[in-house]
Amino acid sequence: MRLHVVVPAAGRGRRLGGALPKQYLPLGGRPVLDHVLARLLALDPVQLVVALAPGDERFATLAAARDPRVRSVTGGGERAESVARALAALEGVAADDWVLVHDAARPCLDPADAKRLLAAVADSPVGGLLACPVSDTLKVDDGRGRSARTLDREGLWAAQTPQVFRHQVLRRALAVCRERGIAPTDEAMAVEQLGLAPILVPGRRDNLKITVPEDLRLAEALLAGGRG
Ligand code: C5P
Repeated sequence: MRLHVVVPAAGRGRRLGGALPKQYLPLGGRPVLDHVLARLLALDPVQLVVALAPGDERFATLAAARDPRVRSVTGGGERAESVARALAALEGVAADDWVLVHDAARPCLDPADAKRLLAAVADSPVGGLLACPVSDTLKVDDGRGRSARTLDREGLWAAQTPQVFRHQVLRRALAVCRERGIAPTDEAMAVEQLGLAPILVPGRRDNLKITVPEDLRLAEALLAGGRG
């Protein structure tokens, strides 16, 4: 099985505030993105391409950036465009090879969970993703901060990354989204546009995405507690 890794890291993380993009915030003495890259390199990929914001000068200072398997490209204005550009920069990829996509802002990923995902999709012509069944009751607001109605949470999952797809499938999926003017918020959403159904592999809630300041404190506590 040949594995290639793509990391979209071109976002600015506006919800977190501050001058530093969230992928470069310090976490246990190292930038968030350095944790992410070290965990992904533990999966032994052929190559790893990171999509960066234009003019990013911090990436080159990361320890993981010196790994010969790691390269960077300039990302786009939407997550899917960043992933598409990184995908286009992969070298020597076969149609059936696996491409694993992981958020730059999920530093607590346990490589064992990524391996579990890869094992679960091994015989699939499509691929799949880590996700958690939704346990909170979900409300829809009325646009004025009040609860207008409640969704049935039965059958709802919160999608995480990593998400892993056959190279050809992901490329086609992103191309179709672009043609249709759809900006998918994850790769599975793009693949669904092809009429395909990615496998949902139960993940762990501590594979959190750093979005708001308290997420960073949670990630610090998890890493200090020996997570990963
Ligand atoms: O904003 P959000 O947390 O959903 O971003 C998820 C991931 O997508 C982050 O790693 C972010 O850096 C990346 N991204 C990107 N290019 C964009 C927007 C987001 O690579 N234009």
